[in-house]
Amino acid sequence: MSGIVQGVGFRPFIYRLAKGAGLSGYIRNTSSGVCIEIQSPESSKLDRFFFDLRHMAPPLAKITSIEIEEIPPSSEREFVIMSSDDEGAAETLVAPDIAMCEACRKELLSPSDRRHGYAFLNCTDCGPRYTIIERIPYDRRYTSMKDFTMCPDCEREYHDPMDRRFHAQPNACPVCGPSLQILDRDGNVVPCDDPVGYAVASLKSSGVVAVKGIGGFHLSVDAFDDKAVSALRKRKRREEKPFAVMARSIETIEKFCDINASEREALCSPQAPVVLLKKKARHGLSEEIAPRNDRLGVMLPYAPLHVLLMNRGPEMLVMTSANSSDEPIAIENSEAVSRLQEIADCYLVHDRPVYLRCDDSVTVHLAGKLRQVRRSRGYVPEPVPLLSGGASVFSTGAEIKNTVCLLKGNSAIVSQHIGDLRNYESYRHFQMVADHLQQIFQASPELIVSDMHPAYLSSLWALEQKDIPSLAVQHHHAHLASCLAENLSDAPAIGVILDGTGYGIDGTSWGGEVLIGDAAEAYRFACFDPVPLPGGDAAVFHPWRAAAGYLFHSFDTVPEPGFMRDKDMSGVMQLLEKGVNSPVTSSCGRLFDAVAALTGLCSDISYEGQAAIELMLAARGFEGEPFSWEISASGDDRWRLDISPMIRDIVTAVQSGVPVAVISSRFHVTIVELLYAIVRKAVAYSGIHRVVLSGGVFQNALLFERLTEKLERHGLTVLTHALVPCNDGGISLGQAVIGREYLKGRYKGVL
Ligand code: ZN
Ligand code: ZN
Ligand code: FE
Repeated sequence: MSGIVQGVGFRPFIYRLAKGAGLSGYIRNTSSGVCIEIQSPESSKLDRFFFDLRHMAPPLAKITSIEIEEIPPSSEREFVIMSSDDEGAAETLVAPDIAMCEACRKELLSPSDRRHGYAFLNCTDCGPRYTIIERIPYDRRYTSMKDFTMCPDCEREYHDPMDRRFHAQPNACPVCGPSLQILDRDGNVVPCDDPVGYAVASLKSSGVVAVKGIGGFHLSVDAFDDKAVSALRKRKRREEKPFAVMARSIETIEKFCDINASEREALCSPQAPVVLLKKKARHGLSEEIAPRNDRLGVMLPYAPLHVLLMNRGPEMLVMTSANSSDEPIAIENSEAVSRLQEIADCYLVHDRPVYLRCDDSVTVHLAGKLRQVRRSRGYVPEPVPLLSGGASVFSTGAEIKNTVCLLKGNSAIVSQHIGDLRNYESYRHFQMVADHLQQIFQASPELIVSDMHPAYLSSLWALEQKDIPSLAVQHHHAHLASCLAENLSDAPAIGVILDGTGYGIDGTSWGGEVLIGDAAEAYRFACFDPVPLPGGDAAVFHPWRAAAGYLFHSFDTVPEPGFMRDKDMSGVMQLLEKGVNSPVTSSCGRLFDAVAALTGLCSDISYEGQAAIELMLAARGFEGEPFSWEISASGDDRWRLDISPMIRDIVTAVQSGVPVAVISSRFHVTIVELLYAIVRKAVAYSGIHRVVLSGGVFQNALLFERLTEKLERHGLTVLTHALVPCNDGGISLGQAVIGREYLKGRYKGVL
């Protein structure tokens, strides 16, 4: 039997089932799942056993296949749990890290319980898994709990099939398990009886506390303390990017944010992700947490340590990944102390190692569904189911928001968020996850797929794996394939793929594409008219540069751009006129940046996507006449989306003092109209009525919801992302699925 059947209370469940029915035999974990042998003189009892097995399995278990074989009777009388077997191919799925269950919460808070106030209690229904597993099968000796020897009480629970902690691998108690400590700024142990109390006191006096959790360290401060939040921002050199917060309870969250049923379900789920919630009009939280943003990333305590901290500390804490700028989250105590020296005032640490770092997952409810923005803790490594099986393929993702993906049978195991590979620590993390995934799932990929960009470290790594053939695929084709895959679809679709950048088959930067096709091949039916970008990638953090490019592209005589008085416009215009260091791009992300700069909203940004977010928030809803635009033919049934008439309109509007709110609303209306028009052309051309929306630009709620609604209202089927992010975090899934088409000899790529 295979699926998620280890580390989720499956063996005790089977034991109780077999014992209850008086069956004899055994169960053991194997690296291909679990193997059960049962025997009974009455066949009805066996039927009942199989029925219950399918219908009463523990909440976290996921059975993906059961193979039944009849064997001759043996002389066994008892039902036993046998020890693990290391042999065979691993089909077993490792469970994700699961938020503390209700039963454990009761014990944690009950003064008479032997685990009262103990930060590391867990059971077969909850606790760390993926982040502590070094290899499979899932047994304590292969986890980061291996150095803790269970005390007699824990040992008894572990071996008692009727106990909630029967074979709970990370089982621990205050006598035998991990313990908390406070370290000072320099990493010295601070002697104290009550580390949680010490941390709470520090938080209450505006301190920044680094807290070691499940997948790594958080940096935390009191969310109501402006001084502390600003200090954290300054020290983290994170000027404006929103911080996530952790709230004591759902009631706390309700005071500050609006919550719908699906958001509530997500917050309280065993995955316990961060949910991006709409702030209430009068929320009273520090503006510094998520400046100029209508949403707040909120999660509930998911580890016992968080519950202890939140119950005594402020009812809302900033809980942001412990790193400075784009580095990966810190996991080891000494590493945290050296990397966070300038940031944290003290460290609340413990001695249970985190084997594999894993950030908090981030989700958002848009267009009627909960969608992944960053898929990590709680979800990984649960597979994304695929339509069909096939060869094992490994893919290396893109460059920023990197994830990797392993295909095995009809499962796609998409890794946790790895981050920006241009950062060396992130790149090392990438290598570790790549090895670890292949090892715990015991897969030998037949193909490695990477992005076509020749300079991405993920592409270079793929080429270094000399003993496995590799394939480089186009970025936006991977976006299209990713969305089709998670929607269990292999029929062709019209893909509207909008993002910041991706390497095109012509060597230029793409990012506003309409592709028609599937994972095997895609036709580039249309794109945004390419525009020169002065300074190339440097423009990403300087939307005014993008604006200069669009002005240059849209006017014969570039108007005096009053909104950028402090910028070196003449220098940039010279670059553009000479065509020096000004690569062209069809990027949609840069178009949003340019419009944000043209309206004077933001000419420089401090985090990726900031200009587009501020532009969307500036919109007074979705109203007004569209600006002008054109769709022009570029031969062979290919089309250009020409937005220069819109840029000219916007400049006129800015010059005549039209408010940003109006310009932004009309801009969003224009983009939806324009995309709808090109989709209609694609429908007429191909006869296909299914539209895929993918790419990071669709994180824009206004654009995403309005376009989805418009397409659906006109009878088209819209496929969107929910299980993996629409941004580059979802690229690896698409790459891997394209790889399978290649192995089947059907791959043609982008035409
Ligand atoms: Zn539990
Ligand atoms: Zn113990
Ligand atoms: Fe992308």
